[in-house]
Amino acid sequence: MLANEVKEKLIKIVGLENVEDSHVERLVYSYDATPQFQALPDAVVSPRNTKEVAEIVKICNDYNIPIVPRGSGTNLCAGTCPTEGGIVLLFKHMNSILEIDEENLTVTVQPGVITLDMIRAVEEKGLFYPPDPSSLKISTMGGNINENSGGLRGLKYGVTGDYVLALEVVLANGEVIRTGGKLAKDVAGYDLTRLMVGSEGTLGIVTEATCKLIPKPESKQTMLALYQDIEAAAQTVSSIIASKVIPTTLEFLDQPTLKVVEAHAQIGLPTDVQAVLLIEQDGPCEVVKREMEKMHALCEQGQAISVQIAESEDEAEALRTARRSALSALARLKPTTILEDATVPRSEIANMVKAINEIAEKYELTICTFGHAGDGNLHPTCLTDIRNHEEIERVEKAFAEIFEKAIALGGTITGEHGVGVMKAPYLERKLGEAGMAAMKAIKEALDPNHIMNPGKVFAKDCRKRVVVSR
Ligand SMILES: Cc1cc2nc3c(=O)[nH]c(=O)nc-3n(C[C@H](O)[C@H](O)[C@H](O)COP(=O)(O)OP(=O)(O)OC[C@H]3O[C@@H](n4cnc5c(N)ncnc54)[C@H](O)[C@@H]3O)c2cc1C
Repeated sequence: MLANEVKEKLIKIVGLENVEDSHVERLVYSYDATPQFQALPDAVVSPRNTKEVAEIVKICNDYNIPIVPRGSGTNLCAGTCPTEGGIVLLFKHMNSILEIDEENLTVTVQPGVITLDMIRAVEEKGLFYPPDPSSLKISTMGGNINENSGGLRGLKYGVTGDYVLALEVVLANGEVIRTGGKLAKDVAGYDLTRLMVGSEGTLGIVTEATCKLIPKPESKQTMLALYQDIEAAAQTVSSIIASKVIPTTLEFLDQPTLKVVEAHAQIGLPTDVQAVLLIEQDGPCEVVKREMEKMHALCEQGQAISVQIAESEDEAEALRTARRSALSALARLKPTTILEDATVPRSEIANMVKAINEIAEKYELTICTFGHAGDGNLHPTCLTDIRNHEEIERVEKAFAEIFEKAIALGGTITGEHGVGVMKAPYLERKLGEAGMAAMKAIKEALDPNHIMNPGKVFAKDCRKRVVVSR
């Protein structure tokens, strides 16, 4: 619990109603969307503006109190689990779209804005913000920026970081800095905007962000290719990319995922095939038509047993929504759902899918796989039960092998979900000793007292997935 002296100082800044430390309130913010991690914070504090954030941070820095910034807590790496106590900083009041600039094609938001609300607001003005994590209905821009989140449109348009132009950040000493600007070009010094993107709340607190917008594409088409051979589907992904067509979306779902998604969404998805590819292209009508025809032919050459084009936008949206609901649908099957994020070069997708299936068989586990195949970003998802300790041991071993395989294929341990606590033990395998030292030096320089989301990104010990309680 916070010392009374500290609590009084915080109340003075944000008001009594914005400092909560009842057991119930602390329990609510003791976990996030990541299974198996839980730890109580000392208090939950909700600032109303940047000045208040800066004052809170100064107090925490003086008293060495950990700060865990939190959007909607949908991250999948225990990034908002307060493993070392301290305060959870909530942005529920800082949730305004501050400006849509139609001349510079930018949008400026506070961190608590819900991603889909912002996407809808800019689309009303004929503009387009492409990053679309599947959690977009609830996740916040602050969370998206700090995880550098991707989405279904990532293959063609990139991820959140590709759209962040400027940030307002409160540093660990309480100083407020502004990085970047509404600029198409800016090489003035180190790129602090890029440094902050994906930093998981460990380097500073984002209190405002300006993001790039682009004109809304003129047309869009969606198709579904069905396969009886998983590896043939994965091979088609590589063939499409190799043919120099870059679709907006190129998603993969295996049969177990298809079955539960269909049971959940009930939109008539085929459940008697081994895998499907969901493919979309957008842009000028004639380009979309030509490229969809090319991809249609490549799917057929790649042993697709059927290729269906969505006949209306409603049908296409139903397919996208079904894909976005894959994790929620799978989570209904077993008490514990562990979703991973191994990413490989696109050319290695078939090898990675094969390896995941072999590893699942070796450890006798149910692992369903779906994901952003065009990005090489797969989500092997293990359906298990945290109470079954023996099975959880096998899950640990299986995922360790999956990560080893991803790295061996030239990939990474996480493509979009971040490191948090969960992947911290694996980070050195990806970065090497010198890479870790460089990252630690940055952390040390910006947050010498380690108050910014401590215990995330850098493993203290070889922490396994455990329930942490304080
Ligand atoms: C069903 C489901 C589907 C998902 N689909 C995708 C997907 O398609 N693509 C994808 O990339 N991810 C996906 N995710 C993961 C998650 O939704 C994203 O990481 C998302 O960006 C997190 O947003 P949030 O608001 O919930 O952030 P939180 O989980 O609250 O926080 C995420 C990280 O950002 C930090 N943070 C939050 N706000 C700030 C701030 N203002 N300043 C500094 N640090 C801050 C936190 O400390 C934490 O480290 C999915 C998750 C779920 C549950």
